[in-house]
Amino acid sequence: MQFDREHLWHPYTSLVDPLPTYPVASASGVRLTLSDGRELIDGMASWWCAVHGYNVPELNAAARAQLDDMSHVMFGGLTHQPAVALGERLVRLTPDGLQRVFLADSGSVSVEVAMKMAVQYQYARGERGRTKFLTFRGGYHGDTTAPMSVCDPVTGMHQLFAGFLPEHYFLRRPPAGVGGTPDADYRREMEVFFRQHADRAAAFICEPVVQGAGGMHFYHPEFLRDLRALCDEHDVLLIFDEIATGFGRTGKLFAAEHADVCPDIMCLGKALTGGYLTLAATLCTDRVARTIGESDVKVLMHGPTFMGNPLACAVAVASIDLLLSSDWQAAVDRLHRGLTRHLRPAAQLATVKNVRTFGAIGVVETHRAVDVGKIQAFFVDQGVWVRPFGRLIYVMPPFVMPDEDLKKLADTIVTACAREEFFLGEAKFR
Ligand code: PMP
Repeated sequence: MQFDREHLWHPYTSLVDPLPTYPVASASGVRLTLSDGRELIDGMASWWCAVHGYNVPELNAAARAQLDDMSHVMFGGLTHQPAVALGERLVRLTPDGLQRVFLADSGSVSVEVAMKMAVQYQYARGERGRTKFLTFRGGYHGDTTAPMSVCDPVTGMHQLFAGFLPEHYFLRRPPAGVGGTPDADYRREMEVFFRQHADRAAAFICEPVVQGAGGMHFYHPEFLRDLRALCDEHDVLLIFDEIATGFGRTGKLFAAEHADVCPDIMCLGKALTGGYLTLAATLCTDRVARTIGESDVKVLMHGPTFMGNPLACAVAVASIDLLLSSDWQAAVDRLHRGLTRHLRPAAQLATVKNVRTFGAIGVVETHRAVDVGKIQAFFVDQGVWVRPFGRLIYVMPPFVMPDEDLKKLADTIVTACAREEFFLGEAKFR
């Protein structure tokens, strides 16, 4: 623990005065077991990934079998069954137009690849000035440079990286709410935004329906249809980042299905391997791939060392098959109902601004920023694992979480929200 504290960088905490970390010895089902033997009900699914829970026999078997064949070979000039089997599933399951698959090593890299694809597509069309991206405020697309440049300018720290990050165009994020009639004023705002900036843009990139790490914001799927129409009208590609929403989390296999929209490029990651290994994918239409392939450049200028890693692909295939063989939709519905019901009492608390749920995602937005160190110690003491950020206490549990664990998770959040001492004086992010 001392070595960890003195030498290992953890996400978004100081190396000089870090938030506490808790040593995990093992994980099984929906529980993390700490090295002192305490068990925690996991509300985070390891940041959206572990949809089947942990230590899953089918995924363990797939990893073991693949290890005996090979854990890795280069993808340049070689191919293998796990990559082909995974590609076949991704093409079949994603919206119809998406036919070509780039297997990347992490979510951020898949977004880098998507953005490079878009720029190369426009270059191939002779549109060399189209190097900008359009996006919503409040988005999150990863921590490497290109994705960071389309993350929300405030929470994405554009100020800090001014001069380093390329500058793109941001549209106010769509109003909150997934039902009812979509706001007509906002639709007009979208049109104006496209008229102003689209001629310099390679693509519009967004997280469909659910903005995750940029604010856990849910918006009307109908706006995605408007985006599709505007992109077509202005020759701008549409990129959906489904890294967080993909594989059932929102109640559809992919969030694009809420609007019945096919993007030109789609990024997948996180739950792709059921949370076992890092792997992501960037899918695109035939038109995008052909335009790049028929240009003088011919190739997509990206090819990482661990592209198409067989071990990760084999586990991803097993994870997708397991998901599809389960009644995942009923599971997500059940989690949705449970989270809605059990988090509702938080809405009455003075500390709480808003409680919202969508699919298997539950969010309590508070007025003041959470004291992460303090509230986490309380959660661990109560036997649950939740990692809030800013003014957001949120969960997206493994789909297999039993009702009684879900209730305990939600009840513990409500209890914590009733305690003023878990909140900082001023509202701020992270
Ligand atoms: N896009 C979205 C929507 C995400 O939620 C994330 C991760 N939180 C990423 C991209 C980046 O993925 P990774 O952390 O695997 O690089």
